[in-house]
Amino acid sequence: MEINLVSDTVTKPGHEMLQHMFRAKVGDDVYKHDPTVNELEETVANLFGMEAALFFPSGTMANQAAIKLHTQPGDELICDKWAHVYNYEGGGIAFNSGVSAKLIDGIRGMVTAKQVQDAINPPDFYHSPLTTLVCVENTTNKGGGACYSLQTLKEIKEVCTSNNLKYHLDGARLWNALVAKKQHPKQFGELFNTISVCLSKGLGAPVGSVLAGSKADINRALRIRKVLGGGMRQAGYLAAAGLYALKNNVGRLDEDHRRAKQLGEVLQQMPWIDVVEPVETNILIFSLRPQYNEQAFIELLKRRNIFISGLGKGKLRIVTHLDYKEVMHQYVLETLTKINI
Ligand SMILES: *Cc1c(COP(=O)(O)O)cnc(C)c1O
Repeated sequence: MEINLVSDTVTKPGHEMLQHMFRAKVGDDVYKHDPTVNELEETVANLFGMEAALFFPSGTMANQAAIKLHTQPGDELICDKWAHVYNYEGGGIAFNSGVSAKLIDGIRGMVTAKQVQDAINPPDFYHSPLTTLVCVENTTNKGGGACYSLQTLKEIKEVCTSNNLKYHLDGARLWNALVAKKQHPKQFGELFNTISVCLSKGLGAPVGSVLAGSKADINRALRIRKVLGGGMRQAGYLAAAGLYALKNNVGRLDEDHRRAKQLGEVLQQMPWIDVVEPVETNILIFSLRPQYNEQAFIELLKRRNIFISGLGKGKLRIVTHLDYKEVMHQYVLETLTKINI
């Protein structure tokens, strides 16, 4: 039994999801003729109370298309220094959109309205790049699955509105925030110009992300997706997995959160632990006391069939997910309490 806690992207489609995929009605989605992709896009748009949505092969492409939509070459966007769009999308902000990023020193990957306000370049000062977009992440990845309060997101929205900035949400793990904070997707739909969500993380679909926004923006996003090479043909087989995931795998995310919290509580009591960051959702970040080597710790767990990842700078990460079952959880809890490092 291999227990992979490296990421919530490691899940494999189960029998029922596969059956659902096999049975999908498909067509050529580049002509928008795939009924299952169309259904998924409509479902996600309705969920957020937004006009339209578009299916993407990855969250990266959905975010990059959004950035392209909202900016012109030479512009600047504002995001946290840990943002996925900046750190983990291969430099796509510059590569795809010719845009620079003003990084904010936020807390656990989250920024405040005041920080955003202070990061805006004066629009009439033509020496600086023109600030046109704010990207926030919820939950935050490198920030350890932290969730924004709606109040903060509203305050940032006000700064965007009064400064004529577009507002994009990287909601790769927004589902986790919705469940943990008992929020409704429409509360997010009314704040943002565009929202990207992943179906292939905690929800267990093999592939796929969706970008939601206004009809006009999504029409333009269709062209951008084509340019990026993201137009897929009989993609309904993949969209079917997404529809199945949305119906069956959102509510259960609180199980992942419960397990991550329990792991955090157990780790907290271990003499070799330095810091366990607060656990709000399914990501748990912790570090060992300075005399211990984290690479050796990763190897030690590996020999007991438990796989976790290092984030660098002494930080270690555990991510719980759909394929991390209760028996595995009990085994991991027991192993962590007994391990001699
Ligand atoms: C995973 C992730 C994405 C998208 O990643 P892909 O692997 O391209 O689907 C975007 N933003 C955040 C915060 C993520 O964690």
